[in-house]
Order: sequence, then C-alpha cells, then structure tokens
Amino acid sequence: MEKKQFQAESKRLLEMMINSIYSHKEIFLRELISNASDAIDKIYYKALTDDTLSFDKDSYYIKLVADKENRTLKISDTGIGMTKEELENNLGIIAKSGSLAFKNENESKDGYDIIGQFGVGFYSAFMVADVVTVISKALGSDEAFKWESTGADGYTIEPYEKDSVGTEILLKIKENTEDENYDEYLEEYRLKSIIKKYSDFIRYPIKMDVTER
Ligand code: ADP
Ligand code: MG
Repeated sequence: MEKKQFQAESKRLLEMMINSIYSHKEIFLRELISNASDAIDKIYYKALTDDTLSFDKDSYYIKLVADKENRTLKISDTGIGMTKEELENNLGIIAKSGSLAFKNENESKDGYDIIGQFGVGFYSAFMVADVVTVISKALGSDEAFKWESTGADGYTIEPYEKDSVGTEILLKIKENTEDENYDEYLEEYRLKSIIKKYSDFIRYPIKMDVTER
C-alpha cells in the first residue's frame, strides 16, 4: 500500500504533537469530541434543507469505547462522515494555518502557547496515541475508507467496510513512560471528568462503554 506524505506544515504540527511535553494532553478528547459534534451539526443543517433526509435527534450521538486490554480508545460519531478525498484533504493538510503562523512569531518551548491558546485540532490525538486510525463513511456515499497514520512519516488510505454513515477515530494509546501516565485515558472516571471539564456544552449525547481487562 502506498504511503502518502503530509503537507509540510502539517508534518511540523504533527511532530510538535508527537514530541509534546505539554502537560494538558487530555485536551485531545475535547478536540475529537468537538469534531464529532461539528460533523453531526453538518448533517443536522443538511437535513433542515433536504426533505429526503430526516433528522431524528436520537440517532445522532457520540460514543466512546475504551478497551483496556487492547489499549484502544474509540471515538465514534453519527455525523456527516468523510469521503476519501475529504480524508486526504482534511486530515493531511492544515486548512487554517493561522495557529502555525502564530507559532512562528512566538516561538515558545514545545508549542505550549499554540496548544493553550488555539484548538490544535485532530493532530492533538498524537499526543496520547502512537497509531491513529480513522474509518469514515460519508453521507450519500456507498463506500467507506480507512485512514491510518503512525506519525509524521505519512499516512495510508484504503477501502474499508462500514455500514453506517459517520466516523470512527481509533486511538492506540501510548504505553506509560517514567514521567507520563497514558493508562488514565482508558479509565472511565478519567474520561468522564475530561468530558465534564471541556465538553459539557456539547448538544449531542456522549455515550460511554469501558471494557475492563
Ligand atoms: P477544525 O475542526 O478546526 O477544522 P481539525 O484539525 O480539528 O480542525 O479537523 C480538521 C477537519 O477534519 C475538520 O474541519 C473536518 O472537516 C474533518 N474532520 C475531523 N474529524 C471529523 C469527524 N469526526 N467527522 C467528519 N469530519 C471530521
Ligand atoms: Mg476541530
């Protein structure tokens, strides 16, 4: 399978995330939940103007599944999903490079400022995960795709099976190190408290399922 390269600016931001010693790594969840919520908003607004789409609020939600044995955390949504092109363009290229421009002017250790003051978005997942897999099926499409990356060396995209429209982000949570605990991102109480802290205002239900070892 062909490995595709990230756009240069994306690669820089990604490297910053991977090597980050930023102490509030928990914000990755805020970013992924906010993306999931945005994706559901998009399908919601489409349904308002498209009679062929019915918007049933109950069938739109965000779900977290933590699997301690496999060290995975999955964040899925029933939002609008992404086509193959959207996976490439939205996850491989930084559309708004404003935050990176800010970083250039205000070089600071480890990108602390950029993370604190701006949403860094999807790439923040790489602060806690060493493999990020995105499986998505776009509204109106009958094919689904899997995007996967282990970091700044690029990503792969291949066709994949997914029945329902929406997106699943699967994080392979890093192993603990001497000074960093990653296990906590697989703990129900910890995930709940992060959600309470940053995502309390989200309009859609956030369901949770934690599989013990
Ligand atoms: P931002 O949310 O500021 O646009 P992100 O880095 O968080 O930046 O996300 C980049 C883009 O990837 C989003 O704008 C969106 O198009 C796409 N995206 C990310 N997560 C999802 C998702 N769960 N469903 C659909 N699209 C998504
Ligand atoms: Mg975002």
